[in-house]
Amino acid sequence: SGRTSPPPPQQRRRRVVVFPLPFQGHINPMLQLADALHDAGGLAITVLHTAFNAPGPAARRPEFQFVAVHDGVPADVAASGDVIDIIEAMNAAMEADEGSAALRDVLASVIADEDRPSVACMVFDANLLAVPKAAAAVGLKTMVLRSASAACLRCLMAYPMLHQKGYLPPQESKLYMPVKELPPLRVRDLFYSSWSDQEKMRNLFARSIEATNTSSCLVINTLDVLETPELERIRDELHIPMVLAPGPLHKLSCKSTGSRLRQEDYDCIKWLDKHPPESVLYVSFGSLASLDANEFLEVAWGLATSGHPFLWVVRADSVRGLDGPDFPNGFGATVEGRGKVVRWAPQQEVLAHGAVGGFWTHSGWNSTLESIVEGIPMICSPQFADQMMNTRYVEKIWGVGFEIVEGKVERGKIDKAIRKLMEEREGSEIRERAKELKKKVAECLKTGGSSHIAIDTLMKHILSM
Ligand code: UDP
Repeated sequence: SGRTSPPPPQQRRRRVVVFPLPFQGHINPMLQLADALHDAGGLAITVLHTAFNAPGPAARRPEFQFVAVHDGVPADVAASGDVIDIIEAMNAAMEADEGSAALRDVLASVIADEDRPSVACMVFDANLLAVPKAAAAVGLKTMVLRSASAACLRCLMAYPMLHQKGYLPPQESKLYMPVKELPPLRVRDLFYSSWSDQEKMRNLFARSIEATNTSSCLVINTLDVLETPELERIRDELHIPMVLAPGPLHKLSCKSTGSRLRQEDYDCIKWLDKHPPESVLYVSFGSLASLDANEFLEVAWGLATSGHPFLWVVRADSVRGLDGPDFPNGFGATVEGRGKVVRWAPQQEVLAHGAVGGFWTHSGWNSTLESIVEGIPMICSPQFADQMMNTRYVEKIWGVGFEIVEGKVERGKIDKAIRKLMEEREGSEIRERAKELKKKVAECLKTGGSSHIAIDTLMKHILSM
């Protein structure tokens, strides 16, 4: 693996400040990067965090320093669950006079802390638009982390073109039209959220590319073997001295814990221990995606009728409009011994468990990477943001999964998709490809592999600052 031995002690003198966007899918890769810089590189870490989605005490690695930044997200916006709105409110508050002065003060006092090693630079999430100015004001150098794929960044870079040429906003009649500038994407695979304010979304993307361009280094949580042409185009088109792909970040350190907002249920690992190899379907739709009450019923009965063992993550907020999930009558008895439901799973451990033979996922980028690393074939049910394009790559470029039949969520379709993956010939071919891809990814992580070289390059760059 890409794990390296601890560095000589004299390197412990530098420190990196990290500032993730406060959503699980962004916090994880940022703190995994911090883990790698700390464990393999010997750097000290200061984590900036907002009050919104602040990491609880159990989620704080004791070796790291945690410092709060005022986010100014009004309670009603936080409760709305609209990610674009929440990011916008956060940026507006941190860019307003008072907020930007507060952010500057926090950065200044973090830098001035003489009890800790001197700060080399700050790594921030590209969506935190107030950072470049505040950092520049206190003389702090910055780097950007993108927690989605390189393909996703290319799509956001192409946003003005996509509107100019009429690909966006997507029209019903053109959903399957190829976007020839961004193969293999079709109109329906583009990053788009119909319920968000379009102006806000375009503005956020444009400004986040600008913020990325102000930095000396861009880190993308991906790896060469998955996205060679996409990375090449990004290197060509952005004016950043260094674009690195050291992913998957969760594999770079032995301790990729300490970043979770929710408490994992480890009982499911014991439950998995009782099952034969590759027999269990793991089902999770990430930290944000939800179902309506009817879809939830269909998923429950689809899982029940397929006859395969399953481990299903159902969050308290998995079903829209309900305080908690309402399982159908008779469901528990039907799946007794064969199905297990948890509130939140230790997903990386689950996917690494030999009993897991498939992953029904919403195709969030972290989940996709975590599945690929372990060679687990996927059934994809994308909902929004970059999930459609991740699904497209899974199906078309890597061939390690397929999208569940589009349209309404129905038990019959679910049952069929599960059987296809777990029983049929097509499923076993997909499984073979997933195992092949796992090997290629493992090569990237070894000494001399592309991800290993990228993290080394990053370390050297930081230490030279
Ligand atoms: N995750 C987890 N336990 C669960 C479900 C998800 O630890 O029960 C983690 C998962 O490993 C991944 C993250 O939550 O790192 C979800 O990120 P992703 O990009 O897949 O989706 P998002 O939640 O951002 O939609």
